[in-house]
Amino acid sequence: PADVATLGRSTWTLLHTMAAYYPEKPAEEEKKSMTRFMESFAQHYPCWFCKDDFQKHMAAEPVQVVSRDALSQWLCRRHNEVNVKLNKPVFDCTKVLERWLTGPPN
Ligand code: FAD
Repeated sequence: PADVATLGRSTWTLLHTMAAYYPEKPAEEEKKSMTRFMESFAQHYPCWFCKDDFQKHMAAEPVQVVSRDALSQWLCRRHNEVNVKLNKPVFDCTKVLERWLTGPPN
C-alpha cells in the first residue's frame, strides 16, 4: 500500500492541477460537480486522520468554486494547514498558478 507521504504528494499534484485547469468562468454545473468532487474526496481519502482534519477545515471554510483563482487559493490554504501541522514551510499562495499551471516567468 502507498504510505501517507507518497499518497499525499501524488494527491496534492492531482488536486492542485485540477484547480489550475478548472475554468476561469465555470458554468453552474461545473461548480456543482467540483463541490461534489471535493465533498466526496473528503469522505473517501484513504488516510483517516488526514481526511478527518480535511473535513473539519472544509466545514470551517466551504470549498470555493466560483473561479479557477478562488478554487486554487482555497486549496492552497488547505494545503498550508497541513504544512503547518507537519512543520513544513508555508507556501506563498500568490505563486500557486505559477507552480501548478504556467511555470516560472522567463
Ligand atoms: P507536499 O506537501 O506533498 O507538496 C507537494 C508540492 O506541492 C511541494 O513540493 C510544493 O511545490 C507544492 N506545495 C506545497 N504547499 C503548497 C500549497 N499550500 N499550495 C500549493 N502547492 C503547494 N500527512 C500527514 O502526515 N498528516 C496529515 O494529516 C496529512 N493530511 C493530508 C491531507 C490531504 C488532503 C492530503 C492530500 C495530504 C495530507 N498529508 C498528510 C500528506 C502531506 O500533506 C504531504 O503530501 C506529505 O507529507 C509529503 O510532503 P512533501 O514534502 O513531499 O510535499
